[in-house]
Amino acid sequence: MRTRLLPNLLVVLVLAVLAFGVWSFVYDMEGPEIAVEPKVDRISPNTKLAVRMKDKAGVRELSLAIRRDGQVQEFYRKRYEDGLTDRTETVPLKDANLQDGAFELEIKATDGSLAGFGHGNTRTLALPMTLDTQPPRLSIKTLPPHIGRGGCAVIRYTASEEIHDTGVLINGNFLVPAFLQKDGSWVCIYPFPYRMSPQDFKKSVEITATDGAGNVTRSHITVMPFDRRFKDDKITVTDAFLNRVHEKLSHLTPGVGDPMQCYLAINDAVRRQNMERLFELTRSSAGAMLWNGGFMQLPRAAVRASFADHRTLYYNGQLIGEASHLGIDLASLRNAEIPAANDGKVVFTGELGVYGNLCLIDHGLGVFSLYAHMQNFDVKAGDAVAKGQIIGRTDQTGLAFGDHLHFGIIVGGIEVTPIEWLDPKWVKNIVDNVNGVAAPQGQAPQPGQAPKGKPRRRR
Ligand SMILES: [Zn+2]
Repeated sequence: MRTRLLPNLLVVLVLAVLAFGVWSFVYDMEGPEIAVEPKVDRISPNTKLAVRMKDKAGVRELSLAIRRDGQVQEFYRKRYEDGLTDRTETVPLKDANLQDGAFELEIKATDGSLAGFGHGNTRTLALPMTLDTQPPRLSIKTLPPHIGRGGCAVIRYTASEEIHDTGVLINGNFLVPAFLQKDGSWVCIYPFPYRMSPQDFKKSVEITATDGAGNVTRSHITVMPFDRRFKDDKITVTDAFLNRVHEKLSHLTPGVGDPMQCYLAINDAVRRQNMERLFELTRSSAGAMLWNGGFMQLPRAAVRASFADHRTLYYNGQLIGEASHLGIDLASLRNAEIPAANDGKVVFTGELGVYGNLCLIDHGLGVFSLYAHMQNFDVKAGDAVAKGQIIGRTDQTGLAFGDHLHFGIIVGGIEVTPIEWLDPKWVKNIVDNVNGVAAPQGQAPQPGQAPKGKPRRRR
């Protein structure tokens, strides 16, 4: 019996090994699935690739190499012992010793199966890539603008390559996005925030762009800022006023019973939320000018408050807060018809806190007009409107006492003075710069234009 047991055992063992080999062969014959993010073919030395590997037998090894002119140079290798079936490795390309130009990135991943006498299955992914270490070059086509505090200016520029995340950067952190035009140039209408001094603004204006490989250009641009004085008003808040606010707007501050606390919350938290909402609503805009000529204002109206009027609020002789009035107040007849200031597209109608019933119109290139304290709406979001078309009537909804229209202009997400946009000559200058037809100072007459002062040839 003994003599027969050993060979039998051997046969079973051999069969088992064979079966396991076949099983593992059938079970897993392929190397790990490989997916790479971001899906780009232009990279910079700062690019980080996220390599995701999936394999039911577990991921055992990852290596990356550069193939160029028939030579392969490995620059990354990592082994894993934990048998994870789905893992993502972030590989920086800084150490790859890359050179500008085209190459192939070879990504090899090996699984933990017993295939190939225990070496596992390997899959190779070869990605054609180009290394780009040059940031995009931007060339400015407009002259340095005079720009008033609380106002706007325009810049038009071209780029040496395809770019994104581009526009005017203010204070190093606030990007006013530019819009790509049909002729390939970029246009950005940007604000000089009324809170900044001309000195600070001058120092802080840059243009920026990022190319397909992730190289970023940031360069300072020349502007000629000038100051504007804004009115400073001291307002004494009375109990009668606080009670009126509380009666009218306590729904904006649920749970606040005290009229003073209600007013302070409206003036601070509610106002801030409203402005954040406005900022969101004006983040996307038509990529071309929808407007046509100067903007129009409420006809036959008296200006009751101007842009950026600063109000210091006192109660019983004590300072309780402050507020800036961002827009102009126009008073006409009671429930007067409100014309759209220009051609555009309605992006919002509805109630918004201190603004009451609010209508917001997109005029393209990040320029919006705003109408607050309205009684009703004759238009709705999505409607195209023409200059002068009646959009609703004035009233005193929101934080307003007395029928009037609060009219504002928002550029790049910031409220700017509407006065510039109500001036057709100023608007024409913006339009000419957007269209690239503003004659640079001192330039010779363009071909096709009759030179001035020269007599025409007689027949
Ligand atoms: Zn107002």
